[in-house]
Amino acid sequence: MNVKLFDTHTHYDDIKFDEAAGDKKDRADYIRAIMKDNDICGIIGVGVDISSSAAQIDLASKIKGFYAACGFHPENIPKDSDVESGMESLYKLLQKNKVVAIGEIGLDYYWKQNPLKAVQILWFERQLELSERLSLPVVVHSREAHGDCFECVRRHKGSRGVFHSYSGSAEMAKALISNNYMISFTGVVTFKNASRVCEVVKSVPIEYIMLETDCPYMAPVPMRGKVNHSGYLIYTAQKIAEIKNIPVEEVVSITCENAKRFFKISELS
Ligand SMILES: [Zn+2]
Repeated sequence: MNVKLFDTHTHYDDIKFDEAAGDKKDRADYIRAIMKDNDICGIIGVGVDISSSAAQIDLASKIKGFYAACGFHPENIPKDSDVESGMESLYKLLQKNKVVAIGEIGLDYYWKQNPLKAVQILWFERQLELSERLSLPVVVHSREAHGDCFECVRRHKGSRGVFHSYSGSAEMAKALISNNYMISFTGVVTFKNASRVCEVVKSVPIEYIMLETDCPYMAPVPMRGKVNHSGYLIYTAQKIAEIKNIPVEEVVSITCENAKRFFKISELS
C-alpha cells in the first residue's frame, strides 16, 4: 500500500505483549518492527494511570511516529490519593515531550468493583478542566455510561476529544460531532454481531472517524482471540471501506490525516 495507517489507541505496555513480542525483548524494537512491516506511520500509546502514562512517554522518546496520551482511566483511579495530588502528578507528565492528549479518561459503569459514579465523574471533570486549560484533546472511554459522559463533555465547552471504541448510538455520535468530538472505531466493527456499530459507521462522515486497535484487546476478525497489534488495523479499515463503499486506500489516508490534525502532529517525529 502506498498509504499508511495511524493507530490512535494502543496499550503496548500491557503484559500480554511480553509473550507476543517473542525474542524482541525490547518493547520499542517490537513496535518499530510492527510499524515497518505493516505500513503504520503513527501510533498513540494510551496510559490509564501515572505509571502506564510514564511508560507511553518512554516509548514515545524511543520510537519515531509514536506519541503518548496520559490520564486516569475510571477503573484506575487511585484509592490512596486524592484528586488534587492526582491532577498535580498528571500535570507534570503532560509537560513532557510528545504528549499529545489527556487519556484515557471517562466513565465505566459496567464493572461493579469500579469507583462510585460520583468519584468517577469528579476525576473525569477535573481532567476535562485540565484539557481546557492546556488546550489538549481528550481520549474518552465510555462504557454503559454514555448519557453521563455526554453531559460531562457538554459542561466543558472548551474541550475537544474523541470517543474511543465507540459503542453509542448514531444520534449521540452526531451530537458529539457538533460538540467538537471525533469518533473512533476498533476491530469490533468486524465482529459478526456488530450490525449496530456498523450503522453508526455508515452515519458518521469519514472526516470525523479515526481508527484504533485498542491492542492488545479487541483483535478483529479473522484474528479474534489473538493478541492484537497495530498490524491488524488494516482489517478494521477494510471493513469501514466496505460499509462506506469507498476504496480502502481512501479510508486509510483520510483517517490518518484526521489523526494528525486531531493530535496536532504536523510532521512525524
Ligand atoms: Zn484503551
